[in-house]
Amino acid sequence: MSPRSSRRTGAHRARSLGRQAKAKRRRRDLDEIHADLRPEVAAKLLRQEPDPDLPGCAQFYCLHCARYFVDLTSMKEHFRSKVHKKRLKQLSEEPYTQEEAERAAGMGSYIPPKKVEVQTQPIDEEIEMEASS
Ligand SMILES: [Zn+2]
Repeated sequence: MSPRSSRRTGAHRARSLGRQAKAKRRRRDLDEIHADLRPEVAAKLLRQEPDPDLPGCAQFYCLHCARYFVDLTSMKEHFRSKVHKKRLKQLSEEPYTQEEAERAAGMGSYIPPKKVEVQTQPIDEEIEMEASS
């Protein structure tokens, strides 16, 4: 019989609405990002065809956060931000990819997961020059 209980109901309703909205614009899962970090996939993601529908025409992409940026400056700012650093930490603490799970279940070629070292991707300063030539 605390006066709080009625307040809580209202807060709960607001929260579940927020959750629905989040589910709609779905984020990439950490294990998907691990797959993106494999060099051959990463190279493709960092050298995408210019896409006018995406921020910065898809030329400024943070692999670890699966986010596009409008220009190099905002991408650099993002790399220094808390969200990005938190994400790098998260990624390095969860080295279990689908591939590793399959390997572990597979035919004796089990390779124990190693601690992945996750670093901010190198920034390609020449990206603009290459795009125009
Ligand atoms: Zn990031």
